[in-house]
Amino acid sequence: MRRVLILGGTTEAAALARALAARPDLEVTTSLAGRTRSPAALPGRLRTGGFGGAAGLADFLASRGIDALIDATHPFAARISANAVEACRLHPTPRLALVRPPWEPQPGDRWTPVPDLPAAAAALPSGARTLLAIGRQDLDPFSARTDVWFLIRSVEPPDGPLPPNHAVLTARGPFRVDDEVALLTTHRITTVVAKNSGGNDAKLDAARRLGLPVLLVSRPPPPPGARAATVAEALAWLDALVDIIPNDGA
Ligand code: NAP
Repeated sequence: MRRVLILGGTTEAAALARALAARPDLEVTTSLAGRTRSPAALPGRLRTGGFGGAAGLADFLASRGIDALIDATHPFAARISANAVEACRLHPTPRLALVRPPWEPQPGDRWTPVPDLPAAAAALPSGARTLLAIGRQDLDPFSARTDVWFLIRSVEPPDGPLPPNHAVLTARGPFRVDDEVALLTTHRITTVVAKNSGGNDAKLDAARRLGLPVLLVSRPPPPPGARAATVAEALAWLDALVDIIPNDGA
């Protein structure tokens, strides 16, 4: 039996857990940070909450006899990815980063890349009506923009200081393009702020359709080492690894 740890919290991590569910030769554990109160059901084992930094994750790898770690966390979740790199160095463990490709502009897109969220907040024109779809934890940089109205959309209600002029919409994707067009139109949105998360994203299609500008926050650098762009590539990496790692016979 080989033991696989998936660092999760993304569509790809869930798809990987589902793809591995029928494998009798693997024991798969998905780890979630615990940010979402009722995450979608996943096959296999589930653990929730931080490990206590890289050293805590290394201890987990050692104590659970993990044979392979697949870091399928969100491209903006840089801390856990750095911890995974360090943990797999402290307790030598094969590691793969499953990182979905970033979005590339298409004809009709009016994107302005910005390096981070404070830069996005600074770049918003005064009087803008903004769809802020960046998650609930990273809203601080926008809280001083008293001259902008925000529609804040997140899966869970937002944390921390919020800008004074806002409405909150709690909703979980995936969203349909027509619904996104209706949302942007109803709220008279003039600017969209998004992270360059990659994957399917109806709000960017809707912004293109409406000719709206988008402030697109660039990704932090990806973790070093082996990388897959798709679940299929991650499965191929794991298959190649399973052929060479010793089986403990359990
Ligand atoms: P982060 O800043 O990279 O990580 C902060 C801390 O949260 C980590 O040091 C770790 O705590 C814990 N953590 C993060 N992911 C974990 C996981 N999968 N399992 C166990 N502990 C985890 O991460 P974040 O940006 O807050 O994102 C948290 C989770 O939400 C990630 O799993 C990510 O895939 C998902 N997510 C993030 C975004 C985003 O925009 N950042 C978007 C969608 C989904 P310890 O140091 O104590 O181990």
